[in-house]
Amino acid sequence: MEKQVCQPWGKHRNLVLFSLVCLLVLLVPIRCQAASLLRYGSVGEEVTALQQSLSRAGFDPGPIDGIFGVKTEAALIRFQKSAGIGVDGICGPETRAALDRVLGVSRGGGSLRGRTIVIDAGHGGSDPGAISYWGDKEKDFNFSIASKVRAYLEKDGANVIMTRYGDYSPGSDWNFWVDELLARVSLANSNNADVFVSIHGNSYPQDPGVSGVMGFYRKGSSSSETLARILTTAVSRSSGLRYIDVQQGPYYVLNHTVMPAVLMEVGFLTNYSDVTHLRQNWFQDQVARGLAEGIIQYLGR
Ligand SMILES: [Zn+2]
Repeated sequence: MEKQVCQPWGKHRNLVLFSLVCLLVLLVPIRCQAASLLRYGSVGEEVTALQQSLSRAGFDPGPIDGIFGVKTEAALIRFQKSAGIGVDGICGPETRAALDRVLGVSRGGGSLRGRTIVIDAGHGGSDPGAISYWGDKEKDFNFSIASKVRAYLEKDGANVIMTRYGDYSPGSDWNFWVDELLARVSLANSNNADVFVSIHGNSYPQDPGVSGVMGFYRKGSSSSETLARILTTAVSRSSGLRYIDVQQGPYYVLNHTVMPAVLMEVGFLTNYSDVTHLRQNWFQDQVARGLAEGIIQYLGR
């Protein structure tokens, strides 16, 4: 009896095995093509194309030879960090989309093409900055506005470097012990940025009635002072925040950067009206638009 049960399998075994092999042969390439992850050790034309894209985007991948080695991996990691996407040194769909976006923008031109702008979202990570009476954290407003400024500037062709791409202390993504202020400054100086714009929210507990926008500039730098005036005026115009003043600011990020640098205080976390506005997406967008328009105006003089 057992023999009879086994016989049908024995009879068709070769056919079944052949069908399975065919199926595998068909499926495996389809799956690989869909995933198509390029990583350290990958070789071929796709790697060559990736190296060319990285190079065009301003990230040196080493020789364009179709071999994904140490230099290509390092360039890819630098690109992923600057694009604010997941940093893993592997080129997958997210990285490809980001590269397409960046290269598409450069091809499209715009008045800021070739300009490098550092947008510094104040505080981050364990440092919340000012906290409103209602529990709002300055670091969150700063980051949200900074991201919107970035989008406006990239639309106009700029190469935008953020000092942080999320809620963490700048520099801690590559070295836990690095000083966060030094990291902000180093990013600007080592990338030869054209301008450095730090975004903050103010706090004045002595008088909760005080509201508006202020710009701080580096002492002795007339270009920084001009930038501060243009940005404060532009933000006041775009958002309706009261123009308070521009002043010299004794801040590390201003004193240690080498390009025109300003620190903008866009609203007061001690003022109910400013905080209520800062919570709104449309208001953050108006502030961001003002900052972007001011930067474009300054660089276009
Ligand atoms: Zn601050």
